[in-house]
Amino acid sequence: MVVLDHAKKIAEKIRISGGGRCNFTNQDSGPANFLSLNPGFADWALRQYRPQDFIGLVRSHRIPFHEKHSGQLFCDRSSQDIIGLLLAESLKGAVSIRHPVEIAAVVREAEHWRISLTGLDSLTCRQLVVATGGMAVPAIGASAWGLDFARSRGLGITPVRAGLVPMSFTSTDQAWVTQMPGVSQRVSISVGEAGHGYGQACFLEDALMTHKGLSGPAVLQASNYWEQGQAISVDWLAALPQDNLFDEREMGRFSVVQLLEHWFPKRLAAGLALSLGEDYPIDRKWAELGRAVREQLIDRLRSFSLKPAGHLGWNKAEVMRGGVCTKGLDPRTLQSRRDSSLYLIGEVVDVTGHLGGHNFQWAWASAHCCAMAISAQHAP
Ligand SMILES: Cc1cc2nc3c(=O)[nH]c(=O)nc-3n(C[C@H](O)[C@H](O)[C@H](O)COP(=O)(O)OP(=O)(O)OC[C@H]3O[C@@H](n4cnc5c(N)ncnc54)[C@H](O)[C@@H]3O)c2cc1C
Repeated sequence: MVVLDHAKKIAEKIRISGGGRCNFTNQDSGPANFLSLNPGFADWALRQYRPQDFIGLVRSHRIPFHEKHSGQLFCDRSSQDIIGLLLAESLKGAVSIRHPVEIAAVVREAEHWRISLTGLDSLTCRQLVVATGGMAVPAIGASAWGLDFARSRGLGITPVRAGLVPMSFTSTDQAWVTQMPGVSQRVSISVGEAGHGYGQACFLEDALMTHKGLSGPAVLQASNYWEQGQAISVDWLAALPQDNLFDEREMGRFSVVQLLEHWFPKRLAAGLALSLGEDYPIDRKWAELGRAVREQLIDRLRSFSLKPAGHLGWNKAEVMRGGVCTKGLDPRTLQSRRDSSLYLIGEVVDVTGHLGGHNFQWAWASAHCCAMAISAQHAP
């Protein structure tokens, strides 16, 4: 087996992943952590190769790791441990890796594929596996080659877009969120539309205000489901102690502004006050507001509508949402339904994971199913 890669340094996404410590899987990873326009497509592969399988491999290489948060597993030392593991396994399997090489053309000939390399030789193979990943971070080798090639082989492509990406609010009428960079708040964000596109989701995680808008795990997760022009709904109160949150007897002597300052970091409280102040008498004491107004205010804080101007694009994204349409692939093998010698695996396919190790788990699981199918064809 030969791996061809145009990058000077291979596995760059692994190297930079997880802040340099590679969040290589999530021990709780399962079908609910993935989105695709064809929901359920990934289930088979995810069942065949589970987080425990990759964890076993990591253990067998004596790589120290730890759980950081919600099942997310990271290397104790660095991502280089996972790259070393993959290189060692490739060596065992007599896989040769040629890089950097530029693929000039891939042509289907009678019994095989011919791959011409710019300025070099050409090679032939019986089975071709496209694992060119997504388009996030082009500076380290991401390209649209896999999508273009799949299209040229008659496969459909679902619209692609940056995923797990910060959202921008500059030049919107909610640009106040850009005035408090560094402020973080645990919130619940609801996004998307049930029954449309990638559906609807809700994430309870931290949101981080930046000078361009919003980032942090809750926002990156939400970005996968967000469509241009949609608003996201933020529950600012979701992670606060719910007992007596706005109890009239306990809180009645405080103004709305004081309550906000009591519950939130100062700059966030000021931003929320600015926004609420357009519609409510926020300097009045809580007890003095009528019950209806109090309820409206609580509702507003629980489903606070924010409308991003856009997202920060491929350079800041962790993944590509969308890709090769799964209707053209066999979910058990990742084989093209149009050509039994062509396979597409990993992020190039329209399967996107949530933040937290799920995207690598899909890369491992889809590769495993493809490898099993190919080796079955070569079995004596
Ligand atoms: C900053 C960042 C952090 C991330 N952190 C995590 C994390 O901690 N956990 C997690 O689960 N996921 C993480 N991800 C996502 C994860 O890296 C990807 O989902 C995963 O690497 C996809 O694997 P893949 O094999 O499909 O593609 P890739 O790992 O992208 O590999 C594709 C390969 O194809 C090569 N290639 C592309 N085009 C061509 C071409 N035209 N010719 C030849 N070769 C080509 C590339 O050079 C590359 O080596 C992160 C992504 C980014 C950008």
